Amino acid sequence: MTKRDTTWRTVILTIFPEMFPGPLGLSLAGQGLRDGAWSLETVDIREFATDKHRSVDDAPFGGGPGMVMRPDVVDAAIREAKAKAPDLPLVYLSPRGKKLDQSRVRQLADGPGVCLLCGRFEGLDERVLDAHDIEEISIGDFVLSGGEPAAITLLDACVRLQDGVMGKADSLSEESFEGGLLEYPHYTRPQDWQGRVVPDVLTSGHHENIRAWRMAQAESITRERRPDLWAGYAGEQTRENV
Ligand code: SAH
Repeated sequence: MTKRDTTWRTVILTIFPEMFPGPLGLSLAGQGLRDGAWSLETVDIREFATDKHRSVDDAPFGGGPGMVMRPDVVDAAIREAKAKAPDLPLVYLSPRGKKLDQSRVRQLADGPGVCLLCGRFEGLDERVLDAHDIEEISIGDFVLSGGEPAAITLLDACVRLQDGVMGKADSLSEESFEGGLLEYPHYTRPQDWQGRVVPDVLTSGHHENIRAWRMAQAESITRERRPDLWAGYAGEQTRENV
């Protein structure tokens, strides 16, 4: 593939720049990075430390365990990132953020790119969040040791939506969450594996029946496993039918 005119741009603020691109340097995302479908720059927060120990953290006011990232150091790193890429939305990966979902992934993927701030220790001094226009995003209700794996997760989800990264656009539109449902089950050869046979309809060649079967499967899996998604989907169907 040739160099492209639109590159989805990412700037990552981290104290571990060597963690990037990490797994995103491999497979389709890695190929996309080399082709210019997306780009990656890191800003090493530690370079903005001012003392001789290059500290980025300090003890919390009020006491308690752990260390907190200093607002002056993080602010200087944010300013550097904003100077590099003023048009990118700034996101702090944080367990207190709004939970990431496919619709937010789509919005970010459709924009110019994203600037991601990765926390470490107990997180950031609150004042640096107040001072900048920062959206907080969580990747789920659990606690990681740092924002970097969360950033890689968010980037993976956005990068695979960039033009030319995944082969077929079709395979994206039928996936889990795209129509408000989880995906139907998949089967491949052998047709009979240890006595487990692929559902007949899939080998019937009858496209309309296959489509209807997959839809029914997607609906029943969603209803069973994700009542929250199902409620949204069922509500949507009712509204469409009135
Ligand atoms: N003391 C914090 C947790 C800090 S974990 C709290 O209880 O809320 C250290 C860093 O890991 C955070 O600053 C954040 O950048 C990242 N992180 C941890 N869990 C995350 C999650 N679920 N989603 C996104 N980032 C997360």
